[in-house]
Amino acid sequence: MRLEDFDTGTTYQARVLSSERITAEQAEEVREIVLEVEREQFDYQPGQSVGVIVSGEHDQGHKHHFRLYSVADTPATGDNGKPRITLCVKRCNYIDEYSGERYQGISSNYLCDLRAGDSVTINGPFGIPFEVPEDKDADLLLIGMGTGIAPFRALIKHIYQDVKDWRGRVRLFYGAQTGLELLYMNEEKDDFSQYYDQQTFEAFQALSPRPNWADPIAMDFALEERSEEILSMLDRPHTRVYVAGRADILETLDRVFARIIGCADQWARRKAELKAGQRWVELVY
Ligand SMILES: Cc1cc2nc3c(=O)[nH]c(=O)nc-3n(C[C@H](O)[C@H](O)[C@H](O)COP(=O)(O)OP(=O)(O)OC[C@H]3O[C@@H](n4cnc5c(N)ncnc54)[C@H](O)[C@@H]3O)c2cc1C
Repeated sequence: MRLEDFDTGTTYQARVLSSERITAEQAEEVREIVLEVEREQFDYQPGQSVGVIVSGEHDQGHKHHFRLYSVADTPATGDNGKPRITLCVKRCNYIDEYSGERYQGISSNYLCDLRAGDSVTINGPFGIPFEVPEDKDADLLLIGMGTGIAPFRALIKHIYQDVKDWRGRVRLFYGAQTGLELLYMNEEKDDFSQYYDQQTFEAFQALSPRPNWADPIAMDFALEERSEEILSMLDRPHTRVYVAGRADILETLDRVFARIIGCADQWARRKAELKAGQRWVELVY
């Protein structure tokens, strides 16, 4: 769905409770921002996104700049009964190909500059949630790139802390350019380590082989190394595959899954079946 097709008519105010940088100084800036919504109801689930609206006279002439951010934690409520939302936002800067000028992304810079007590306009939630299957024996294959880890942080927490006694395999594949950019899995903040003693959970990292070059992140190698297990997961009837983060991963995944499963046609059919049953869900951007 195109951004201009979202309903931005109904908005809410939220207050920033905290904003914390979760990457080292040498890495790209990514902040975890906790908001408190100024109303009693704001229901959302892992895999959904919240809209952020930045008003003002923007360079490109538009008055309301609207962007989406995935929820990075399970739903929570403060002592005052107001809903809380955690976002994980990367500060984006772009170089114009023609002029060579550097532009700051409007919404990401606005969010990363907010401090505790500031107010922000939001709406939503939007998107298809990453549902937890009813069958606790179901396998989950989670593939995230960059800030695409945010919804999986929420989903995995929900599985092990709220649903509990999960018996299916949960396999998280996480790609980033460098180790410093592995969010929630770095020296600043390592949230996933609390699940490593869960027998059903395993996490795999995929980094770029030469981080200072434009070489792609080696997600294909990470997946292919575990092709036997992935194939057995895909063969089970309740397995879900959830993909989040940079959209360019989709092409790589099609290539890798085609190799794992046998050929491109076979993979195209299997993927269509998975999608039709909501067993393959993408949250990509
Ligand atoms: C479903 C969904 C979930 C998402 N979840 C997350 C998330 O969890 N975390 C996260 O960090 N991001 C997430 N994103 C991405 C996020 O929505 C934004 O796209 C991102 O933060 C960049 O937005 P921006 O407003 O900062 O940049 P923009 O201002 O929108 O800039 C983007 C483009 O505009 C160009 N541009 C910018 N300024 C100028 C200018 N002055 N003149 C000419 N060209 C210019 C840039 O070159 C660039 O191509 C998600 C996106 C989607 C669709």
